[in-house]
Amino acid sequence: MQEIYLDNSATTKPCDAAISACIQAMEQNYGNPSSLHRKGFEAEQLVTKAKQELAKALSCEPNEILFTSGATESNNLAIVGSVHANKRKGNKIITTAIEHPSVKEAMQMLEQQGFIVQEILPREDGTYHEMDFFQEVDEKTVLVSCMWVNNETGLILPVEKIAKAAKRKNPNTIVHVDAVQGFLKLPIKLKNSGIDLLSVSGHKVYAPKGIGTLYCKKGIRLIPQTFGGNQQNGIRSGTEATPLIAAFGAAVESQREQVLERAEHYQQLRSYLVERLNEIPDVHINSVLEHSASHIINISIANIRSEVMLHFLEQYGIYVSSGSACAKGKQSYVLSALHLEKEFTDTAIRISFSPDTTIKQLDCFIEHIKEGINTLAKIK
Ligand code: PMP
Repeated sequence: MQEIYLDNSATTKPCDAAISACIQAMEQNYGNPSSLHRKGFEAEQLVTKAKQELAKALSCEPNEILFTSGATESNNLAIVGSVHANKRKGNKIITTAIEHPSVKEAMQMLEQQGFIVQEILPREDGTYHEMDFFQEVDEKTVLVSCMWVNNETGLILPVEKIAKAAKRKNPNTIVHVDAVQGFLKLPIKLKNSGIDLLSVSGHKVYAPKGIGTLYCKKGIRLIPQTFGGNQQNGIRSGTEATPLIAAFGAAVESQREQVLERAEHYQQLRSYLVERLNEIPDVHINSVLEHSASHIINISIANIRSEVMLHFLEQYGIYVSSGSACAKGKQSYVLSALHLEKEFTDTAIRISFSPDTTIKQLDCFIEHIKEGINTLAKIK
């Protein structure tokens, strides 16, 4: 049975370039980057090269790149580290109602410490507008944290406009962006963008799990959240994970030039899929297509619970997600915040493409969705 993997927003299969770089780092450049001898120097060079690759992809400086264990850590460090470093400037934080749990839960922790966290809701049409952030930022606002592309629906938030609007109101406000689902899917230039901190994750871009990056603009201060040997300027202590870092750098290098070409591929796949889905009266499209990135689409299938359809498709080697992998079956607070009725949130399926996804695979997916609708038990 051929596998049809349509869950690339949960994680991706590492690419060949990442796998070879990882193996080479383990077999040959296994030194500790902090060691003073040649083996250490070789390992340090791997880290330097990977920083250059990330910096080119983000249009920033290599010394503005920090490596972490993934975007969960990047988000935690960016949020907690920046507000604690700047707490004399204010105690108000602005975020959205549709953030990933690694942002949402960090915010809840800060609320318990006395910070005031304000969640901005989407507008009636399920989109976000920079003016809603402009209105909320005041002289006490220390941080605005906002995702770029929502992981459940693909909704694009205008982060560059939000950053500029926030700075216009209060130039001292720090702007953090969770860019996990947008990185290498949409173009971005960090230089002069107003964005101060930005998180990305390796395993969403064909590198292994357990590696992430935090872009930290020169001059932005963070209170470290890990304590130890002062690696990475003391902001993120711990021996650098050189095999993962090398793999991440190689994955980024191999994709950097393909962002636009891939975006076009995803656009074609999504248009085709939407056309085929429109043949099925029981299907409702939850993503606001004209404001969403094309590699993610969220749909609901009337009266069939998400997990039931997910496991039905799995029998045919088709892998999709119910909401996001992180939500693990819980009803999605993201879809609720985006004004979706409960009947749609209980039956939501997320489909996410890779460069290897084909029209033929989508045809197969559609045939099995139709079969599922005809055979599965319906929610009463
Ligand atoms: N933010 C978003 C938007 C995500 O989709 C994810 C991964 N599901 C994360 C943060 C966390 O990334 P990681 O798995 O690297 O910790």
